[in-house]
Amino acid sequence: MRVLRLLILPILLWSCSNEPNKPPASTEQLSQRPNDDHSYANLDQINTKHLHLELEIDFESQTIYGIARHQMQNRGADTAIFDMKGLLIQKVTLGPKGLEKETDFTIGPMDKDSIIGQALLVNVEEHTSEVNIYYQTTSASDALDWLDTNLTSSKSKPFLYTQGQAILTRTWIPLQDAPSNRLTYSADVKVPSDLLALMSAKNPTERNDIGSYHFEMKRAIPSYLIALAVGDIGFQDLGNHCGIYAEKELLNDCVKEFEDLPQMMRVAEALYGPYQWGRYDVLVLPYSFPFGGMENPMLTFANPTLLTGDKSLVSVVAHELAHSWSGNLVTNHSWSDLWLNEGTTVYFEQRIMEALRGKEIADILAQVEFGELQETLKEMAADSSFQDSKLHLDLVNRDPDIAMSDIAYVKGAFFFRTLEQAVGRAQLDSFLKSYFKHFAFKTISADQFIDYLEAQLLAKSGIDFNYRQWIFEAGLPDNCMKVQTPRLDKIRSFAQSFNEGKNPFKPIAQIKWIQKNGKRKKTVAYVPVQYSDYLIQEWQLFIRGLHPQTKASRLRLLDQQFKFSHTQNSEILCDWFVLAAQSNYIFEIEPQLRAFLQKVGRRKFVLPIYQALAKNKKGLSLGRTIFQEVKTNYHSVTRHSAWKALYRKN
Ligand SMILES: [Zn+2]
Repeated sequence: MRVLRLLILPILLWSCSNEPNKPPASTEQLSQRPNDDHSYANLDQINTKHLHLELEIDFESQTIYGIARHQMQNRGADTAIFDMKGLLIQKVTLGPKGLEKETDFTIGPMDKDSIIGQALLVNVEEHTSEVNIYYQTTSASDALDWLDTNLTSSKSKPFLYTQGQAILTRTWIPLQDAPSNRLTYSADVKVPSDLLALMSAKNPTERNDIGSYHFEMKRAIPSYLIALAVGDIGFQDLGNHCGIYAEKELLNDCVKEFEDLPQMMRVAEALYGPYQWGRYDVLVLPYSFPFGGMENPMLTFANPTLLTGDKSLVSVVAHELAHSWSGNLVTNHSWSDLWLNEGTTVYFEQRIMEALRGKEIADILAQVEFGELQETLKEMAADSSFQDSKLHLDLVNRDPDIAMSDIAYVKGAFFFRTLEQAVGRAQLDSFLKSYFKHFAFKTISADQFIDYLEAQLLAKSGIDFNYRQWIFEAGLPDNCMKVQTPRLDKIRSFAQSFNEGKNPFKPIAQIKWIQKNGKRKKTVAYVPVQYSDYLIQEWQLFIRGLHPQTKASRLRLLDQQFKFSHTQNSEILCDWFVLAAQSNYIFEIEPQLRAFLQKVGRRKFVLPIYQALAKNKKGLSLGRTIFQEVKTNYHSVTRHSAWKALYRKN
């Protein structure tokens, strides 16, 4: 065996075979990214068309043992380049199963910031179309979240799920991990016989006794959408090709919360054309899942923090469903144009919510998000990252996670809302419908989008629209449409009045007429204002409108009246903890804070709380103590972000 060492290589293997050896690749060759800023793959020379996975899931060692069988289209390449990170490669073979021949491979150096990972260069022949990579995952496989039994609802069975977006699929499968390469996949997965395996593919609805499952995804998808979950999972059908998977203990609550899913599907199809993926199921994961939802095709992964009992957060499911068109059907060509996935989806989500709950509620949801965008823009201006408030981003040598901000999502959505205002709803709808059809199962760049927009919408309607300013310039253009929300104006005035030292929530006088001694008599009853009198989004806006330096004594009074610290709604809890962290009140509600950070791993909630705690010395110390206690409960995505907030700049 010949061992080749290159620079600082955490994992470096060189396998032996009877092939004549080619000269070793240079460091420069091993670091090239010819087709995508975040992938080493030489897609223009050779690319995977179909991937077959053979996976054995070992909970005891928290390892996946796998074979990734790539069926490739080879245009005369002598090397096939794959992406990998945190994997151990045992061997690589060429040819069909049973007739395989081992071949040489080289693993390149880790990129400077350990974002992209390593290139895996496999020697192939001019006509090679089958490359089989034998590998195993490691503790550095960041896509994987192995949950001990205590982190699941059953408390008796473990759980595993993967999170591929943006560039983590390479940490559990060696593959060409660029969104521009679409592939079909199949998988044979072996799991402990008391657990069920599910993938972003056609799924079983119940466990079998041998723990072996076969999956097929026959529609070509980008690699970040390959997903796996394994656990003690039950299923319930909701009708209209929709259903819910969840840990058995959560299943009934999930079914109640998401019972409108079939109706959402009808609304979505009426808006932008037929659903293209067969079934649409939602899998509700354990609490450590770092995102609200992930649009894995045919099987959205959802966060249990959406279970509020009052359907107040179902817009997240509308969002993931919308991704079945925007993102999954028409995909951003590179992560620089994430807004084409997310902005379109937020707009689509708002339209679904409008059809389901009416314009007033949909506008309130949009306005709350718009407030978040304005805050983000202010922060970006303050920390000199304002250039990143363009929709199309420059991400060369940068973590694609940078794109996952309110810019892609909310500025992106307001791009479409403003466009709607300019051209009219009917025209925009017909444009989007044809856009989803035209680019179905393809990827799209900002330039391609612009060409299509000009030809199919603007030229036809004779409208001049400043799309270049929206897409390529920082900040929010002046023509950004304004959403009118009188209910939110009222709640804003409550926050202002509270900040001025007044109490906007005095009991409301209700006049009643009663009969007494044969006479009609007027009485006045004072009815206290209650938490349930306002929408979740109204409370969010109220809390966000309070002065950061509000005294602990005043926060205590609010908390006594509305029990914010004791609500089950994570959106409210997050905003409340962020506000409380800026005064000493946080130490009065420390048990609730600790319980929340221990249970919930959704980055959207966890990160702002740690960031708020880090703003003062005492809070930082509390934040660090809690983080050290609970960090193993988080997926790596959340753990890394929280760690940065608590440790990096200090
Ligand atoms: Zn999304």
